[in-house]
Amino acid sequence: MIRFCQGFQNLQLTSEILANKEGGGNYRTIDNYTQFWLYSNYMQKIKNYINGQLIEPIDKLYIDNYNPATGKVYSLIPDSDEKDVAMATEAALAAFPQWSNTSKEVRSRILLKIAELIEQNLERLAIAESIDNGKPVALAKMIDIPRAASNFHFYATAILHYASESHAMEDTAINYTLRSPVGVAGCISPWNLPLYLFTWKIAPAIAAGNCVVAKPSEITPMTAYLLSELCMQAGLPKGVLNIVHGYGHKVGAAITAHPNIPLISFTGGTKTGAEIARIAAPMFKKISLELGGKNPNIVFSDCDFENAIKTTLHSSFANQGQICLCGSRIFIEKSIYEKFKIRFIEKVKTLKVGNPADNSSNLGAVVSKEHMDKILSYINLAKEEGGEILIGGNQVNLEGEFALGYYIEPTIIEGLAYNCRTNQEEIFGPVVTLTPFETEEEVLKYANSTQYGLSAIVWTENLTRAHRIAGLLHAGIVWINCWLVRDLRTPFGGMKNSGVGREGGFEAFNFFTEPKNVCIKLK
Ligand code: NDP
Repeated sequence: MIRFCQGFQNLQLTSEILANKEGGGNYRTIDNYTQFWLYSNYMQKIKNYINGQLIEPIDKLYIDNYNPATGKVYSLIPDSDEKDVAMATEAALAAFPQWSNTSKEVRSRILLKIAELIEQNLERLAIAESIDNGKPVALAKMIDIPRAASNFHFYATAILHYASESHAMEDTAINYTLRSPVGVAGCISPWNLPLYLFTWKIAPAIAAGNCVVAKPSEITPMTAYLLSELCMQAGLPKGVLNIVHGYGHKVGAAITAHPNIPLISFTGGTKTGAEIARIAAPMFKKISLELGGKNPNIVFSDCDFENAIKTTLHSSFANQGQICLCGSRIFIEKSIYEKFKIRFIEKVKTLKVGNPADNSSNLGAVVSKEHMDKILSYINLAKEEGGEILIGGNQVNLEGEFALGYYIEPTIIEGLAYNCRTNQEEIFGPVVTLTPFETEEEVLKYANSTQYGLSAIVWTENLTRAHRIAGLLHAGIVWINCWLVRDLRTPFGGMKNSGVGREGGFEAFNFFTEPKNVCIKLK
């Protein structure tokens, strides 16, 4: 198997390897690609993308990048710092006058080209995402990468239709609102949906005419690196997008504190969001924070039962439960509690945890050893708090090359109080709790009891109840009889400690532009 890497030693770019270039092996199937990634001794160096070029970090320091499926280091990430951020910001500032004056049509065409290139590279981006993050390749192919392409596609076309407001005051005056790009936008994203969330910020920012200094999570930098190559191919002018890799406390903190970055769009944990707000607020920066969640999934007895079970399987365990929108607290009306529990356990027993490249795996690895330990510690906490593990609860030890990977069984827990720590804190793993309820008032109290308010799921065939509950839930997004159905035009974001501001549709353009009202007196 080692022979797969022979002939590749001199290649510089990951994409050259993934693009199936000549050189000693045939990588035309997923299996062969994966074999290469898993067994190669070739230590790829990711590079920063600054001023249109792929460059090493100034201090030439690197961080190990682990493949969570094998627990082994497979590439090196720049350990950049404030000097690299300063260089990226200078490049962005220099590019801004021209980019902000480039017509919307031209900007749109470049973004469409990037979308097209992402689609053309679906397979290799999906494999790269899986290897970096641990998620099943099939999931990355179906969700992550298509959505990254859609983000560019959506904002490339949305910008052509974005119009500003006008307010006429009878015969006194007329107001119109100018909306200009802000300048250099700082975009910081997490590891759970790496390219999906990275592009969700970058696409509207540059479509609106801003230049960007972006940082992907240091835990999952690979697809952001591959994106920088696609941006070069698409003809994105130099300096419009700059990607600086490295730790949050160095690169993320430097972006947040940089005086020439007046706007920060951040997705990540609530604690990090609070730290960013602490630095950015006294500098009067515009901030958009998309933070953690502890979302309720409410199942009424009049629901479409099989549909509720089927979708709950996804909303509980998709991406190993590492989606901010997962419904980790499942509240079930008492009259169907036992029936739901039995059927749900039956279904969870059919889920396979395994090699992410294997199409039969439903769950892959969780993202890191630290994260695995955190999830397992919450399972222990649940036991201490009196919870009963109905299924799962353990690390999964796979064999062979996956023996050191970070795998956890899908886990269902019952018997916990709604306000215990397990039911209040974000676990962000394949762990859900079941809690019975009797009345709407009771379940609303449970659902709204956490510090979070990101999303909620409701299962009922009673239309008036659905509307009533949707109005009363403390959540930025409510799904009735479905989950993760996304229309990119809708406002996306959370209330309470789940965030500040909204992304999506024109909300994103409102954030990435500065409004100026012009008032003209008519007489
Ligand atoms: P973190 O908050 O740890 O990290 C998010 C990003 O911020 C990473 O790029 C991280 O870098 C960086 N960062 C860390 N410290 C700082 C700092 N001091 N200043 C600036 N940037 C910093 O979140 P995770 O990556 O662990 O992601 C999981 C969290 O994200 C969960 O809480 C989840 O709910 C939330 N999330 C929210 C979503 C939403 O839309 N509301 C969507 C998806 C996830 P590094 O990786 O190097 O530490």
